Amino acid sequence: MEIKTHVLGYPRVCSKRRHKWALESYWKGVDNGGIDAAELHQRMAAIRQDHWQMQADAGVSLLTAGDFAYYDHVLELAEALGVVPERHESEPDRLARCFAMGRGSATAASCEMKKWFNTNYHYFVPELKGKQHFAAHAPGEKPPDAAQQAREAKQLGLPVKAAVTGPVTFLYLSKLAGAGGFDDSKLALEGDLAHAYVNILGRLALAGAAWVQLDEPVLSLDMPPSWQAALVNIYDHILAEGDRPAVLLANAYGEIGSFVEQLGELDIEGLHVDMRNSSTDVEQADKAMTGRVLSVGVVDGRNVWRTNLSGAERALAQLAGRDGGLWVGSSCSLLHVPMDCQAPGEDVLLAEGSLPVAFAKQKLGEIVALGRTLEGKASSEDKELFETAPTYPLRDLGWADDTLSAKPLQPSERQGEKGWPDLLLPTTTIGSLPQTGVIRSLRRKWEKATEDLRLAESETEIQACEQIIHECEEATRLEIKKCVEEQEQLGLDILVHGECERSDMVEYFAGPLDGIISSKRGWVQSYGSRSTRPPIIHDRIKRPEPITVEWSKYAASLTDKPMKAMLTGPITIICWSFPRANVPRMETAMQIAKALRAEVADLEAAGLPIVQIDEPALREGLPLAQADQQAYLEQAVHCFNHIVAEAKSQIHTHMCYGEFGDVVNAITAMDADVISLETSRTDMSVLRELIDNGHRAGVGPGIYDVHSKRVPGIEEMCQLLEKAIEQVPRERLWVNPDCGLKTRGWEETRAALHNMVEAAKVLRAHLG
Ligand code: GLN
Ligand code: ZN
Repeated sequence: MEIKTHVLGYPRVCSKRRHKWALESYWKGVDNGGIDAAELHQRMAAIRQDHWQMQADAGVSLLTAGDFAYYDHVLELAEALGVVPERHESEPDRLARCFAMGRGSATAASCEMKKWFNTNYHYFVPELKGKQHFAAHAPGEKPPDAAQQAREAKQLGLPVKAAVTGPVTFLYLSKLAGAGGFDDSKLALEGDLAHAYVNILGRLALAGAAWVQLDEPVLSLDMPPSWQAALVNIYDHILAEGDRPAVLLANAYGEIGSFVEQLGELDIEGLHVDMRNSSTDVEQADKAMTGRVLSVGVVDGRNVWRTNLSGAERALAQLAGRDGGLWVGSSCSLLHVPMDCQAPGEDVLLAEGSLPVAFAKQKLGEIVALGRTLEGKASSEDKELFETAPTYPLRDLGWADDTLSAKPLQPSERQGEKGWPDLLLPTTTIGSLPQTGVIRSLRRKWEKATEDLRLAESETEIQACEQIIHECEEATRLEIKKCVEEQEQLGLDILVHGECERSDMVEYFAGPLDGIISSKRGWVQSYGSRSTRPPIIHDRIKRPEPITVEWSKYAASLTDKPMKAMLTGPITIICWSFPRANVPRMETAMQIAKALRAEVADLEAAGLPIVQIDEPALREGLPLAQADQQAYLEQAVHCFNHIVAEAKSQIHTHMCYGEFGDVVNAITAMDADVISLETSRTDMSVLRELIDNGHRAGVGPGIYDVHSKRVPGIEEMCQLLEKAIEQVPRERLWVNPDCGLKTRGWEETRAALHNMVEAAKVLRAHLG
């Protein structure tokens, strides 16, 4: 029997971040030394070409096309379907329209950005109109759609599978008059949408795609019956058409559950299930799909650990001869892992006791080796790969950790009892201040010297590196001093040191903590041209010495105003790194919490009156299945409260990326005195929910959007504050932006913070 191998999608960024540089030099404009559209398309095509070549060289049976996007696959699909907000309709061409939807333009705000399922990838929320008509295909220059990509991939001579976000997932991710998620109002559009997909599939058939993979990760969520029914209708409609490629319906990130049976009744040619995140799907899908293809996602697309290949072989052996065929693939798109752990410059990874890691390129090798082994055609390299593979569990262990007995959701006595600043509506920021070019090159110099020091062999080399490091530290002090002076001049009440020593709020903590390391080129796309390098947690986490104390202490010494120290919380560190494969995530989170508890004690001993522990990823870590959510939230709160259990200083926390509705109970239970929240792009409704839920701590609703260049006026901010005062008792209201300011320039930041401080003054005077 033949076993087919494939991936659900491949990274767009590579070790050298060619994707980012292409985009950014196009945005710069030809007049400023950037590239034109023709060159942008050419460079992007070259990246796609290389990535297909890698897949072909590895020996996969099907090439995956259509997964490549310039900015975001949801945004580009929306644009192609004609789901374009009115404010972007006047853009001169389709390329400009796509970029305006993602980045905003001088006159129109971007689309809302949200997290893609339980990952740290951001997609842009399609904005449906009441009488939305979905277009099939519009002419004009644009990022290449799935059909064009399929046509290009065909050139490599292998069968092509086009990956397209499925109609039900697309509808779920979209919003209609503000209503998102599983809102039934959107289902009225199902007929027209199905029709548009018939056209997409027709075009894919013309382009020569043998298969289309319709990604429906929405299947991992608890779909209401009305949406399940809509899915059946939509697919019945699409599948009835003759001129189309074979359809592989693909789930990822979680478990489908009993709905698998009904999926089996559809006329689909194949079904992909995520074996890493489900205990029952494979077995049920095998039955439901007799005579048709079953694709099993066994190589983890979310984490970087090598696969337990013998374990996987054993788990799949019985299916190898199944009626209809077996495909072996990645659990989800490899978009969430970096490209190549053997890229030049990745010696840190290799030096660190040869960690058993596999990035996208290596995962291709695993999938193919597994396929060949199941066919009984293993090569000698395949055998070696099997022999050296770790014996990690094949299922994601998730958050669960029974040793963290679920504590009742009760805040401690400390909460709300803290002395507030004397004045009403205290002003502050979320932590980071603009990261100028000077700061970025300073950090690069510092990083290089630290790396060189590690490899230095002679006394002179060591001294030279130490000298550079010393200079960098001095320069950092200077930057902190500038930040403090700026804030004093602006008249802010609670100051921060500005975080100029941190490139990223998670990566920064990976350095000084034991058990967690950073890769050099392990870029993972966050959205558009932005990527992060998620650190790798490979061992028990310990804090050998204080991490942030020196900088915060220095900053505090420069002013009489209260200084707020900044830490990143354990859940966020776990969510934005690659956690261990053989330990439940919550156990690692607790190890981080212990390290941070010691850090808080050291900060207090150094005289810092306020400590902020950011948990922007709390919502993102929420398990997809409702049944698992409560335990996760209780344990996450338990970790947070452990950090501050003995704290005497005032404790702040911060969250962003919306949809707090699901975590309101947890926010209330967190033992923080103040929480700042991203609210300016949504409305202030979450405040009401919090207060109704018994939240007693201070609240700082973000009153301006840090993701936009636009500086809102004093009056606009006053209006938002007035709205907030209607919900939150005035004594508990704080005034701050939405999130950190590191991506903004100083000019706009100064103007915006000035207006924010003035708005607080106006309101104070008004309130007496
Ligand atoms: N303290 C961090 C900063 O200001 C918080 C960032 C975040 O919430 N994403 O940059
Ligand atoms: Zn934030």
